Amino acid sequence: MPGDGIGPEITEQAVRILEAVTEGTGLSLNFIPGLIGGAAYDAAGHPFPDATRDAALKADAVLLGAVGGPQYDNLDRPLRPERGLLGIRSAMGLFANLRPAILYPQLADSSSLKSEVVAGLDILIVRELTGGAYFGQPRGIRVVDGQREGFNTMHYNEMEIERIGRVAFEAAMQRGRKVCSVDKANVLETSELWREVMIRVSKDYPEVELSHMYVDNAAMQLVRWPKQFDVIVTENLFGDILSDQASMLTGSIGMLPSASLNDKGQGLYEPSHGSAPDIAGQGIANPLATILSAAMLLRYSFGRADLAQRIESAVNDVLEQGLRTRDICTKNDQEVSTQAMGDAMVAIL
Ligand code: ATP
Ligand code: MG
Repeated sequence: MPGDGIGPEITEQAVRILEAVTEGTGLSLNFIPGLIGGAAYDAAGHPFPDATRDAALKADAVLLGAVGGPQYDNLDRPLRPERGLLGIRSAMGLFANLRPAILYPQLADSSSLKSEVVAGLDILIVRELTGGAYFGQPRGIRVVDGQREGFNTMHYNEMEIERIGRVAFEAAMQRGRKVCSVDKANVLETSELWREVMIRVSKDYPEVELSHMYVDNAAMQLVRWPKQFDVIVTENLFGDILSDQASMLTGSIGMLPSASLNDKGQGLYEPSHGSAPDIAGQGIANPLATILSAAMLLRYSFGRADLAQRIESAVNDVLEQGLRTRDICTKNDQEVSTQAMGDAMVAIL
């Protein structure tokens, strides 16, 4: 689902990479195009048409570019491109959002932090995506004693905590075998239960070290010494904030992938960045976040960590060769187009 803005340009490259890396491996992917976002509104009058929903539910995985653009800003809310994204997330029941924050050593200068703090950073934030204060009932704005008051409800049940916990521990098994569960258990009951359930889940993963951190401290530690973390697992609201914070440690939005998973092994894979309307159609967008999302697709929806690693190491190689799209280019580098970056990746694979 290419979507809007730079979406078509970057997904085109990611599809080429998926074809190249799976060639001769016995895994043969069948690509079904789908309309979403503004592109779907233009073609079918709705940002998440029924045909797109049906295709998504039948597929093993969805690769998505990005949605949105200024030309859609005046549409009624239910017709805006972003509703397409909310629609597909809820249709697929995607409860786990995985966002790695990786700083390739070749790009250490692009972070605003000192390179010794962030060079080689490789952490994974696992955010619960369908619970907490974002969805809890009751909610609303009411009048109490003549004043308006807003209220929200945060709740989590054991099943919701356990399933996100398992995603985090499974991911840690494939990485550095450390999980830090972030909560506010000194203040919130949801966090008290969260902590209890995480400890219970951890018993099934004796190789993984579990630690706990209050969210305020976690925000501080992420800036002070982010390399202490491997996998961070946290609830919806805390994860929203911490994952954006972690992405800025790396300084290069064009490099950051994401995955959102459900309990059937299906996933939605998309770059962490948006549709970048300011550079759309110019052939200068960085396709690597989408290509790395395609690597996550192979890892999490097809169980092919081996192929994912081949893509990730090819990304390392193109950076080593000095190839840079404009967003990550400094004066000594060679600026290349979206297409040329894809060509170089295909050549390596
Ligand atoms: P959204 O609300 O959809 O997250 P946004 O308004 O936060 O979108 P982006 O679309 O992510 O913003 O763009 C933010 C800035 O980053 C823009 O200047 C854009 O050109 C740049 N940018 C985003 N993605 C890329 C990319 N893949 N390659 C190069 N530059 C990018
Ligand atoms: Mg944004």
